[in-house]
Parts: sequence; structure tokens; C-alpha cells
Amino acid sequence: HNHIPHATHEKVNAAIHAGELHPQIGDYQQFAEYMADGGYQTLHALRDNGDWEAVQEQIKEAGLRGLGGAGFPSGTKWGFVRANPGPRYLAVNGDEGEPGTFKDRHHLERNPHMFLEGMLIAAWAVEAVTCFIYMRDENPGVIKILKKEIAKLVDAGIVAEDYIEVRRGAGAYICGEESAMIESIEGKRGLPRHRPPFVAQVGIFNQPTLVHNVETLYWVARIARFGPQVLNAVEKNGRKGLRNYSVSGRVAEPGVYLLPAGSTIEDIIEAAGGMAEGHVFKAYQPGGPSSGLLPATLNDVPLDFDTLQPYGTFIGSAAVVVLSDQDSAKDAALNMLKFFEDESCGQCTPCRTGCEKAVKLMQADSWDQPLLEDLCQVMGDASICGLGQAAPNPIRLVMKHFGEEI
Ligand code: SF4
Repeated sequence: HNHIPHATHEKVNAAIHAGELHPQIGDYQQFAEYMADGGYQTLHALRDNGDWEAVQEQIKEAGLRGLGGAGFPSGTKWGFVRANPGPRYLAVNGDEGEPGTFKDRHHLERNPHMFLEGMLIAAWAVEAVTCFIYMRDENPGVIKILKKEIAKLVDAGIVAEDYIEVRRGAGAYICGEESAMIESIEGKRGLPRHRPPFVAQVGIFNQPTLVHNVETLYWVARIARFGPQVLNAVEKNGRKGLRNYSVSGRVAEPGVYLLPAGSTIEDIIEAAGGMAEGHVFKAYQPGGPSSGLLPATLNDVPLDFDTLQPYGTFIGSAAVVVLSDQDSAKDAALNMLKFFEDESCGQCTPCRTGCEKAVKLMQADSWDQPLLEDLCQVMGDASICGLGQAAPNPIRLVMKHFGEEI
């Protein structure tokens, strides 16, 4: 998704994994520093005589929800997984393939142990027999850090050898969908599964599986150590908690910004140093291409879970892309649909054929809006997974807000 031609991309990755190229690894908090800072003490104490339901209560009180984008309450999920007889597994979704999202990588490159401790606390809570970390292969530096730091956990006797398995994704966006990720972990082609049954009941190798996003686990560790107030003490615009927004596009300083979950697009642009020089704010993608585009006039909505529902979209993984007067909303939406066309797994017709049809219709100078609306309805109603169900969002939002361009 990063404009590097596929062949080049594969060559670079092959060279990295053959040890011929060394990915740059920034400064991150080392194991010894993390330990000196009180690291893994919460995990030890919980393993000694902790009550998993007490931790679950803290997670619920904090209001932690799945930060991969779905926003499912994390504590509730633990209960669903625990309700099914073991052996149980834990899978970490580190695929982070949503264009514009780079917050998981940000955490892993700076504070890998906070994430690892959170993962081990969640694994303890559901009595997982193995943890699989499904990691985006386009982040070879992160994979290197994880392998190195996991080896230290084994040496220190914190986990048994082979308790944590790092699996490299192979670049398919759809493998960030949890059931497709599970298929991929099992060694199969990453095709989303029909639900029910949910992965909490029938997950990896048909066993109950707890799936969490990287950042969610980072917060699990922080909540377990410092209490629910690390999240619920922050309030803004009637919303509680914090969000890591990945901000890119026409802003002066793109990056990851930790802000109150009640922040509006104006707050986010301000945090990112304002608009880039010479650019006037026109539109924004609130949470990945599946969330489509909103106009600059919608600038007082808190960008949190649930708040964008009345506007026909969602915050998802908080991948905010800012567009300016120099960008075309029509071109941006077409680009999003081309992405979905490329990344559709092809398993179901409304999505496989629908994305292809939509791209053709959107390439016209003037859009056939009634036909596109029909197509959107079929895709939304009849696709198996979120990719096909949400692909209509960019089309519908451009028809609603940027009619003059189409
Ligand atoms: Fe595959 Fe698209 Fe169907 Fe999802 S909606 S299962 S990506 S074809």
C-alpha cells in the first residue's frame, strides 16, 4: 500500500530476512530499563495470587475498547473467551494494514515491553496456552525488536520457550480481519470466516481464542499497573479516555498524537502543527479508507467510537488523513475503492465484483449516482466481512458532501 512496486518490495523484504539488509531500529526502552521501572512486577503479582476478574473489572472501568478499529469492549471479550473450555489461545493482531495507521508500530518501536507485559497479562487472564503475534512484515525492524526482546523474556524465566510465536504476515490487507488472520496463522489462505461461531468460541485450531490489537494490550498493561484512571480520568466534549491518532496528509507535522478521545479534527490538526504551508483544510478521512471522507465543515464532532455513526461512518483505528484544497475528494474516493478492489479476498461476489464495478463507475467524469447507490446497498448488505460491507462508505460520503466534484 506504500507505492513501492510489489517486486521491489518483495526483494527488499527477502534481503532483510536473509540478513543482507539491516532495518533501522530506533532507540527503544530496553528490557533492563523496563524492569528497573517496575516492569513485569504486575504480571508476577497476578500470576502469584491474582484474580482475573478483578483485572477484568479494572479494564471495564477504564472503558478500554478494541483499538484495532472494531471498538469491542476488551473486558467483556475476556469473559466470552473464558466461558469456553480450553485449551485457549491468544492472538495479537499486529497487521496494521489500514492505510494511514501507524500507531501500533509507534508503540512497538518505543516501548515493546509495555505491549508484551499487556499480552502476558491477557494471556494469564484467559489461561492461553500459546500466544501468536501476527506481525506486519513491512515492519521488519519491529519483528527484529520483538524476537530479540522475547528471547530476553525466555532467558529471564518470564515465559517458556515457544510460548510466544511471532508470525510474519505476507502483506494481505484482509489478514488484518481477525478470522482471516486466524486462517493465516493456521497456515491457510487468509479468507474471512462466516460468523457465528465467533473466534472467542472457535478460533485458532477451532479452540477459543482471544484476539487483541497491539495498542489494546499496551493499555491493558498500563491499566493493570496504574489503575483505570490512566484512561477514564481524561474527559473532553463528553467523552472519556485517550486515543492515539495516526495523523498524515496535508499537516505540518504528521505523526502519532495521544489526545483525549473527545478531540475534534480541529484539535488533531492543531496537535499536528496545523495545516502544511500553502494548504487549506478541505476534507478528512477519520479512520482508514473504510471510513470514507468527511468535509472540513464537520469540525466539531468528537472523533471517538460511536460518535460518527450519525454521519454514516466510524473512527476505526483513528487513521486520520487530512486533505486540502489541492486534493480532489473524487480522486481520493476512487483511490480507496481501487485499494479495496486490490485487497478484496475474492471469496464473495458482492465485494469481489462490486469493488471492480464501483471503480469503473467512479472513473467516469460524471458518476451514475443511482446505479452506484444500488451497488453500495448490495455490497453493504451481502458481503461476508467488513471490507465489502464498508467499501461503500467513501462512495456514499463523496456523493453526500462533494456533489460538485462528481
Ligand atoms: Fe473477501 Fe470481500 Fe467477501 Fe470480505 S467481503 S470475504 S474481503 S470478498
